[in-house]
This record gives sequence, structure tokens and C-alpha cells, in this order.
Amino acid sequence: MIIVLVGPPGAGKGTQARRIADKYGIPQLSTGDMFREKIASGDELGKKIKDIVESGNLVPSEITIQMIVERIKEPDCANGFLLDGFPRNVEQAEGLEKALSEAGKNLDAVVQLDVNDDELVERISGRFTCACCDEGYHDKFKKPAVEDTCDACGAEGQFKRRADDTPEKVKVRLDVYHDQTAPILAYYQSRNLLDQVDGMQDMDKVSEDISAVLDTIAAGDAPKRKNGSNPKI
Ligand code: ADP
Ligand code: AMP
Repeated sequence: MIIVLVGPPGAGKGTQARRIADKYGIPQLSTGDMFREKIASGDELGKKIKDIVESGNLVPSEITIQMIVERIKEPDCANGFLLDGFPRNVEQAEGLEKALSEAGKNLDAVVQLDVNDDELVERISGRFTCACCDEGYHDKFKKPAVEDTCDACGAEGQFKRRADDTPEKVKVRLDVYHDQTAPILAYYQSRNLLDQVDGMQDMDKVSEDISAVLDTIAAGDAPKRKNGSNPKI
């Protein structure tokens, strides 16, 4: 299965992507994580993109498309993969379509997590992750069972917050989403690939709704979709 998970910053893409990747045995490819790793490594590309990523703007599509095109050629992607945070504009969607067609592959579904802006600000301002295993948490919605200790890997005192999760950067990132990313929803709906899921629900219910779509695809059936070009944004 080849799946794209799309939604505004803080919608729950990373949270759901980890669950989908585990359940369906496909790798989660997060361009945001890949860029943060490059920045942390201090390599040439990392230095070039650091200011862009930390400002909340998009890394040039040429760089992003090339990074994904190389990544999906890796052996672990042979039976499918889940894209989290890519594509983020129509140019990237076209780049993905071209790369898949050259490889004789097809996109199976684009799952959109729909969440309103006020909720997004609350989710992003309370977000933190474990630096050791990347498990995601929230000050209010998902606290670790033992304070300062990761439920998933047991690491103590390793929680971190993102440099771009400040109120000013969140505003930039939401504007970028509405201006540049939202147009890909119509692009995919016109190709009859878009599945919309209510991301305002609790995490388990969101997972259930995504699984309902992906289980249909995994069984070789076509999910029921509203074809057209006016998705809810
Ligand atoms: P994204 O990858 O789309 O930016 P995350 O998966 O990191 O979003 O989620 C943002 C924050 O919101 C995290 O702190 C996460 O724990 C929390 N979160 C994710 N899904 C939900 C949900 N359905 N309800 C409440 N909080 C959520
Ligand atoms: P994310 O972790 O998905 O919220 O992404 C964090 C940041 O990485 C974004 O604000 C962008 O600066 C950059 N980024 C991630 N994915 C892309 C992409 N597909 N295109 C361009 N920039 C991206």
C-alpha cells in the first residue's frame, strides 16, 4: 500500500502514521523528521535548510522531491510506504506522481486529517516527544504514565520540544498550509484518491476511521469516495 497522510501542522499525522506503519508493516516516511535529522547532523544540506525549517516555511520542492524519490527506492519501501508531511504543494504532488509512474507504482489513498485551527494551536503548544524513540506526547491529551519517563522506551529526562512549535511559527505554518498545501486536496479529489477523516476525534477513534479506509484497500476493494474537486478544507 502506498499512502499519503495530509493535514495541517498538529493534526495528528505523526501520531497516526506511527500506528499505521506498525499495523500494516510499511515504513513511515516523514519529510519533517528527515529534515530535522539533517539539521541535527550538521551536514551541508542541514545547514542550508535550518533557517527555512525553523521559520516554518517550506524547503524548496526540488530538494524535497529529490530526497523522497531517493528514499522510496530503498528496499524497505518495496511493499509500500506511508508518506507523512509530503507532498506539501501541487509541485510535490506532481513530482510524486511522476516518480511512482516511472517505477510502475500507484498511490492507493490520500488520507486527510481535518482539524480546526484553534484545536491545532492547542495541540502544537502542548506537544513534546521522546528524544530516544520519538514517541509523541501532549501536556493535556497524552501525558506519560510516569512523569518525565517515556512510556514506550523507558528513557528518563529525555523529552524535547520543537524549535518551530512557538505561537509565531505556528501562525506561519498554518498560513503555509492553507495557501500552499490545501490545493493538493482538490488535486487528489479530482483523481478520486482523497479520503477525509475527522481528526477532531480522540486518537483511538481517528485510528479506527483510518483503518476502516486502509482495510478496504488492503482487501483489494475500492473505498467509497466522493469524486469531485471541492473537498472540505
Ligand atoms: P502532526 O504530525 O500532524 O504535526 P502530531 O501527531 O505530532 O501532529 O500531534 C500533535 C500533538 O497533538 C501531539 O502532542 C499529539 O500527542 C496530540 N494529538 C494527536 N492526535 C490527537 C487527538 N486526536 N486528540 C488530541 N491530541 C492529539
Ligand atoms: P513537519 O514535521 O511535517 O511539521 O515539518 C516541519 C518542517 O519541515 C516544515 O515546516 C517545513 O519547513 C519542512 N518540511 C517538511 N516536509 C516538507 C515538505 N514536504 N516540503 C517542504 N518542506 C517540508
